[in-house]
Amino acid sequence: MQSSSEKTSWFPVMLRLDEARVLVIGGGNIAANKVRLLVPTGARIELLSPTLCPELQRLADDGVLTHVPGLVSEEDVRARLPGCRLVYIATNDTALNRTLSALCQQQNVPVCAVDDPGNSSFITPALSTRGAVQVAVSTGGAAPVLARRLRAKIEEMLPAGLHLLADFMQNARLPLRERLPDPSDRRQIWERFLDGAGGHLAMSGQTEAASHELNSLLDGHTRQGEVWLVGAGPGDPNLLTLAALRLMQDADTVLYDNLIGPDILNYVRRDAELIFVGKQRNRHTLPQEGINAELIRRAKAGERVLRLKGGDPFIFGRGGEEIETLTQAGVPFRIIPGISAANGCAAYAGIPLTHRDCAQACLFITGHAKTDGTLDLAWETIALRSQTVVIYMGLTMLPQLCAQLTTHGLPADWPAALVERGTTPRQRVITGTLTTLPEQAVTEKVTSPALIIIGEVVRHRVCPTPTEP
Ligand code: SAH
Repeated sequence: MQSSSEKTSWFPVMLRLDEARVLVIGGGNIAANKVRLLVPTGARIELLSPTLCPELQRLADDGVLTHVPGLVSEEDVRARLPGCRLVYIATNDTALNRTLSALCQQQNVPVCAVDDPGNSSFITPALSTRGAVQVAVSTGGAAPVLARRLRAKIEEMLPAGLHLLADFMQNARLPLRERLPDPSDRRQIWERFLDGAGGHLAMSGQTEAASHELNSLLDGHTRQGEVWLVGAGPGDPNLLTLAALRLMQDADTVLYDNLIGPDILNYVRRDAELIFVGKQRNRHTLPQEGINAELIRRAKAGERVLRLKGGDPFIFGRGGEEIETLTQAGVPFRIIPGISAANGCAAYAGIPLTHRDCAQACLFITGHAKTDGTLDLAWETIALRSQTVVIYMGLTMLPQLCAQLTTHGLPADWPAALVERGTTPRQRVITGTLTTLPEQAVTEKVTSPALIIIGEVVRHRVCPTPTEP
């Protein structure tokens, strides 16, 4: 088995092969599989093998490839390598395959020893082709059968007229570029075209109606920028809503802060502009006013700007302030809720937020200190036995928070929990009491983001998640 340190990370590219010389070594069915992929590319195929399977023989007879008969020798291959774009090696002699592969790599000619990724400098993905549309699936050589299975599933999903749609879009590309020089304008038109009737018309071959549809979109086009305030949930990308995902795919620009991890950013459209706007305690990368100004400036320039927030934008997310300034500036906006840290952490830690027996209410509060370092909270309404208290941003002030709660009437052994990096693979849950939790946070070196859950519900905890150690 390969250890993870030996794993190769492959880089996908599309290669132009027309008129290029490509060497295929081997004359059996495996070689034929590769030749079948090569033929439509217009490559000049030289095939080295003493024998040919019937399919390759027919291609040789038809002049589609040049057959070089006789036993394959290292010298012969070496002589043919200069000027070669690619080499496929598929003889049934593994040792020979390896020797020839090493030879190609010495000469810097890309080589694929079929079914032997360890001795290849490139590999071929499983392909689904519909005209200009090609969908490639690869497991990096780890599990070719799995790649083919996925390919089959994708095949089923690809609509029949996809090649017609791709042709239509290709033909319209240049004229569209002349009318709309800005690439993001064109993208918006194409998205509307595909979301509307255009896609179906083109796929069913109704080219004229599809052109008509495209033209009417162009006629009505005035670019309108927008801001989308979107909650990304507490960390696990599985907790993104479908609406969030959709907007992440459509946005021109994404402004995100430090609660948004790379796992989530992975779902943003590749060519969207990503802007980190920070927000760590006392270390604002871009102050809130700066963020607001940036949202407005970009939306007014016609961009579709996604303001991606951890959890829910309206729960300790300053979403209220952002939409107030957007309204004042006359910028249209949408708000998509997200799963807040309280919901996510409670579920993944197995702590119910309410419980018929002990918690008739649940209170979300902030433990963020004022600039003078004090907490200004209505302790009488917080220190109640019949409710669960969830504290956001409370890690720094944890000792003071716990002390205030006992001072205002909760027992010293009242249950309390800390959930660090909830819903992520690094989630930790620490349970204790109002007396022990501050100390535990120090010994366990808990860091932000962490959520505090206080109340008898902590005793009802069950461990549901495999993600937790
Ligand atoms: N709008 C966010 C909260 C932002 S305030 C929401 O609805 O969740 C930031 C605080 O949220 C952090 O200090 C922490 O207390 C909490 N938090 C956010 N994500 C968290 C996570 N994955 N695990 C634990 N706490 C988290």
